Amino acid sequence: MNTIYGVIIIGSGPAGYTAAIYAARSNLSVLMFQGYQPGGQLTLTSEVENYPGFEEGILGPEMMEKFEHQARRFGAELIPEDVIAVDFSRRPFVVTTDSGDYRAETVIIATGASAKWLGLPSEKLLQGRGVSACATCDGFFFKNKDVVVIGGGDTAMEEATFLTRYVNHVTLIHRRDTFRASKIMQDRARKNPKISFIMDSEVTEILGEDAVTGVRVRNLKTNEETVLETQGVFLAIGHQPNTALFKGIIDMDQAGYIVPVEHTMTNIPGVFAAGDVTDHRYRQAVTAAGDGCRAAIDVERWLESQGEDIGVENWN
Ligand code: NAP
Repeated sequence: MNTIYGVIIIGSGPAGYTAAIYAARSNLSVLMFQGYQPGGQLTLTSEVENYPGFEEGILGPEMMEKFEHQARRFGAELIPEDVIAVDFSRRPFVVTTDSGDYRAETVIIATGASAKWLGLPSEKLLQGRGVSACATCDGFFFKNKDVVVIGGGDTAMEEATFLTRYVNHVTLIHRRDTFRASKIMQDRARKNPKISFIMDSEVTEILGEDAVTGVRVRNLKTNEETVLETQGVFLAIGHQPNTALFKGIIDMDQAGYIVPVEHTMTNIPGVFAAGDVTDHRYRQAVTAAGDGCRAAIDVERWLESQGEDIGVENWN
């Protein structure tokens, strides 16, 4: 693996693919590590209705396939592997996966964010046996069952509403008496006769041995505990950035989101970051894609400023 790429992109969500499209189209040699599950969070979503250009909406996985095809069209090389180590101590940077070491003059980190879990032992035990963080992926398995959704944001509303396509009933459990979700998403959920709400409450245990049979719910105002029978539990309590690999190397905030220092460039010159891995505020496909574009342009300009041109003609 003697190739020195112009840019290695880590992550294959909207930010990563957009960066790949822009960088490859500007004739940089581009290698992307897509991860073992390419496509990022949008592959876990159903209909995307707010990405401009798809006026009728588009399924998340289908949209990511389009992003991928567009990146390939301009010559980006894509490898569906996880990155397991990085060496940013000198250039060319080294990125390691199960298949070996890869080198590049610049790196764009676009590893996104992942769903949060409550951290209950019973939750871990029953993951894949009734406990899920993705209604779109797993809702189908709960046809005519009763399920619980935990959370009070847009994701919780969206997942609860989506699940009513399959399930008998959804109980949404939220720890406060007001929702964080936007009004339109709340209204949609409230109007749905298959959804009921338990407020000011937390789930303290998920019950069941081989499959979920119920949840123990504690009212945070009265401390009263009750057991609710249910066959499925869907977590919708937010996300955390996928930055463990870069801890101690790249500057991050307290929550672990990368903090770029100059436009999209991180504290390490030549290493850039884009998308949800830097963004706890907007977290939209379109903002991530915009970020990927910015990162690719920053890479180009930075290489130019270094007097380097790592175009496809320079491969090997
Ligand atoms: P979020 O807005 O951060 O909401 C997380 C929810 O989970 C909050 O209600 C929070 O409660 C609750 N929560 C967090 N930790 C918890 C814990 N340990 N136990 C119990 N509850 C917990 O996350 P999100 O709903 O995933 O949304 C993320 C972003 O994506 C938002 O900007 C959202 O607007 C956007 N989004 C948009 C759409 C759409 O427009 N189609 C769909 C989904 C998401 P508190 O309220 O008490 O903090």
